[in-house]
Amino acid sequence: MENLQKAKQIIEKTLSYDDILLSRVKGLSNTLNDLIYGVLPKDLYEDLQYIDGLSPAKKRAILKMVNDYIDLILNKKTLKQQEKKDIKKLPIERFRQITEFKELKPIEKRALKKVGIKNAEDAFFYIPKRYEDRRLKDIQKVKDGETGTFECKVIETKKINKGKIKVEVVVEQKGNRFSLYFFHDKPFLFTFFRKDKVVKIFGKVKVYGKEKSILQPELLNEDFEGIFGVYSLRGDSNIKITSQTLNHLRRALIKISQKYADYYPDILPSYILEKYGFPDISESIKNIHKPPENENIDKLNDFETDYQKRLIFQELFILQLAQKYKKYHIQKEPSYKIKIDLDLLEEAIKSLPFELTNAQKRVLKEILDDLSRDFPMNRLVQGDVGSGKTVIAALSALMVAKNGYQVAVMAPTEILANQHYKNFVNFLQKFNLNIKLLTGSLSQKEKKEIYQDIKDGKVDIVIGTHALIEDDVEFKNLAFVIIDEQHRFGVEQRKRLTDKSHKYPHTMVMTATPIPRTMALAYFGDLDKSIIDELPKGRKPVKTAILFESERNYLYKKVREEIEKGRQVFVIYPLIEESEKSDLKSAMEGYKHWKEAFPDKEAFLLHGKMKQEEKDRIMRAFLAKEAHILVSTTVIEVGVDVPNASVMVIEEAHRFGLSQIHQLRGRVGRGQYEGFCFLMVPDEFKNATEPSRLKTLERLKILVRTNDGFKIAEEDLRLRGAGDIAGTAQSGKNIDFSIVDLERPIDLILMEDAIKEAENLIKQDPELTNFPLLKQYMLEKYKDKLDIVNIA
Ligand code: ADP
Ligand code: MG
Repeated sequence: MENLQKAKQIIEKTLSYDDILLSRVKGLSNTLNDLIYGVLPKDLYEDLQYIDGLSPAKKRAILKMVNDYIDLILNKKTLKQQEKKDIKKLPIERFRQITEFKELKPIEKRALKKVGIKNAEDAFFYIPKRYEDRRLKDIQKVKDGETGTFECKVIETKKINKGKIKVEVVVEQKGNRFSLYFFHDKPFLFTFFRKDKVVKIFGKVKVYGKEKSILQPELLNEDFEGIFGVYSLRGDSNIKITSQTLNHLRRALIKISQKYADYYPDILPSYILEKYGFPDISESIKNIHKPPENENIDKLNDFETDYQKRLIFQELFILQLAQKYKKYHIQKEPSYKIKIDLDLLEEAIKSLPFELTNAQKRVLKEILDDLSRDFPMNRLVQGDVGSGKTVIAALSALMVAKNGYQVAVMAPTEILANQHYKNFVNFLQKFNLNIKLLTGSLSQKEKKEIYQDIKDGKVDIVIGTHALIEDDVEFKNLAFVIIDEQHRFGVEQRKRLTDKSHKYPHTMVMTATPIPRTMALAYFGDLDKSIIDELPKGRKPVKTAILFESERNYLYKKVREEIEKGRQVFVIYPLIEESEKSDLKSAMEGYKHWKEAFPDKEAFLLHGKMKQEEKDRIMRAFLAKEAHILVSTTVIEVGVDVPNASVMVIEEAHRFGLSQIHQLRGRVGRGQYEGFCFLMVPDEFKNATEPSRLKTLERLKILVRTNDGFKIAEEDLRLRGAGDIAGTAQSGKNIDFSIVDLERPIDLILMEDAIKEAENLIKQDPELTNFPLLKQYMLEKYKDKLDIVNIA
C-alpha cells in the first residue's frame, strides 16, 4: 500500500508539469515499475515500458490510467492479495479454454462445445433468449398465467376422461387444494404422485373462478428453483439438442459466469457507466445468467433490467464506435477531388429522355458534393425498385470521367451488368466516353484487350460483374467505385475492387432493398445515406390482389388475357424441391402445372440449383420474348428490366416476406404497360379465424394497400420480425449480435444512446488513446468485418 501511495504521489506531481517539462521527464518507467510491480494489468505494463519516449499527451494519458488503477485498488480496501494477482491476469482470462475449467463436468463441457462455446468470453456472452420464473411460490398468491415451482402434498391421483385429459392429481399446499392435469396415463405418474408424498412440480397456473390448476406440469426431482435463463441455439445451425443438453449448458454457464466474471475487464468508459447508471461488467454478466432471486420477471423478459441494458448498450456501442471510427478515418484519407462541370451536367440532364424527379436531383447533388471534396465519399443510395438509381450513377460517373479519372461499376450478375452497360451507353452517348463491359463470358482474348485498355487508361467507365475484381484487372487511375445491390457482395469483394485504386476511391453502393431506419442505423453507421424516395411521374403502382386457390381460374383467365395482348408473365414459387416436412409445391411441379394450364404457350423454368450462366441464358431468352411464362423460384434477379412483362404471380404468397414480394412485383409494369401482381394463398386462409393466419392475411393486405417499399419494410419488421430483413440488410457484413434484438423496444432506445455516445467519443478522442482496451476490443471484433482502415 505504501508503495502505491508513493507511486501515486509521483504520478500526480508529474501530471502537474507542463508539456515541455513533461517531455523531458525520463526514467518514469523504472521508478514506477519498482513501486507497483504486480498490480497493473498486462497491457498497461506494456504501455508503461515505453512511456519515456512518448509525447507529452500520451504520457499524460498513460499516467492517468495508471493513477486510476491505483485509486481503484486503494479504495477497494477489501481487495485481497489473491485478487490482486487475478487482476494481473485479466486480459488472459477472456480466452481461457473451456477444457481448462476444472469445475465443469465432462458432460457440461460437451454441451458447451455443442453450441460452439470455446472459451470464457464465448460463455459469458451466450445469453438467454428469455427467462422462466421457476421460483418457489405460494399457490394462493399466483395469478392466471403465472408460472412457478410448487411444493405440495399429493391428496389423490385418479384416471379421468375429460376431453384430452387422462389423469387428474389433486394436491394441497398450505391448506389450498388445486389440480394437476395430464394428457397421458403412463404408470410412472402413479408412482411419482403417491398419496401423501410431498412433490415439487413446475408449470403455468390456470385460474377458472376459484379453481386453480396446472396442465401438464413438469415433475422435478432435483433442486430446480429460481429464475431460469432459457438458452437457445444460435444461428441457423442444424444440430439437434435435447432439453437435457440445455440443462447442462445452463448449469455450465452459471458456474463459469458466477466464478470468473469478476476477472472480465470492463471496457466501457466510466463516465458512461455513471451517466446511465449501468452496473459494472462483472455484475452484469453474473446477473444475466443468474438473475437475482427477487427480480421482476416481466422486466427481465423485456430485457429492461440495468444489467441487461448495460450489455445491450455495450454491444451496440462497440459496433457504432467501430463504424464512427472507420468513418472518421476514411475522412482523413486523401482522395480524388472532382471538379464538377455544371454546364456539362446540365447538358447531360437535358439530353435524357425524361425529367429527373426531385428525389433524383437531391440525391445527385448529395453525391456531387461528396465527389468535389478531397476525401473519399462513402455513401449508400437507397431507392425503391424503379426509382431510377442507374441514371444517377451514370451522371455522377460522367463527372468523374470528365476529370480524367476512371470509374468502375460492379453488378452481381451478368445480365444486370449488361443492362447497366446499355443504360450507361444510352444516357452518356453524346459525351465521347469509352465505356466497356467486362464479364466472365468474354473470351480470354477479349478480356486481355480490355485489361490492357483499362491499364492504359483508355477505358473511362468499366461496367462488370465479379470479373472486375480479378487480379488481372489493373487501373490507371480508378477514382470512383459504384456497387449495385450491395447486399450481394461481401466486404472482401468490395475491398478488392476499391483496393485497385491508388488512393481511397469514392465509393457508392446502391440498393433496392428497403432497409428500415433502425436497421440502417445499426448496420450502416459508417456510411452516409441518400434515399430516392419518389418514383418517376406517371409510373402506375402495380395492381395487387390476394387470390385464394379456389379462384385460380380467374387468375388463369387474367394471365391468358395479358399473354394474348403480347405481354409476359412471371410465376414465383418459394422453394425448389419438396422437402419431407412441408407440402410446398415445388417450382418443378409448378412448372408442370403451368404448362398444363397453358399448353399452347411457351414456358421456361428457372431455379436456384442452376449455374449462373444457365440462369443468365434463360433470362436473356425470356427478355427476347422466347417464352410467355417464366416459372421461377425466388432466384429471379432483382433489378432486371423486362419491360414487356406485366404479370407477377406469387405462389404460396404466405411463405414470403413482404419486402421480398414488393421487390418481385417491381419487376412488372416497368415499361409502358400496366402491371399486375397476384398473391396466391391456400383456401384455409379464407374466413380464417386463427390468429396466425389472420396475421398473415393482414400482412399481405399491406401490399395491396401501399406501394411504398420503406413503409412495407417497416410493417414487415413489425409483424414478422427482424431476422429476414436483417439478413439482407447486413449480409456481407456478418455482424451477429449476442444480446441485441432490434425488435425489442429497449434496444432501440439504447441504440440512440449508443450512437450519440460513439459519435461524441470519436469526436473527443478519435484515436481512443484514453481507452486502449476499448479500442482493442473494437478492432478485435470489427476490424475485418468492417474493413477498418488501419492507422497505427
Ligand atoms: P432502379 O432504381 O430500380 O435501379 P432504374 O434505374 O433501373 O431503377 O430505372 C427504372 C426505369 O425508369 C429505367 O427504365 C429508367 O430509364 C427509368 N427512369 C429513371 N428515372 C426516370 C425518370 N425521372 N422519369 C422517367 N423514367 C425514369
Ligand atoms: Mg437497379
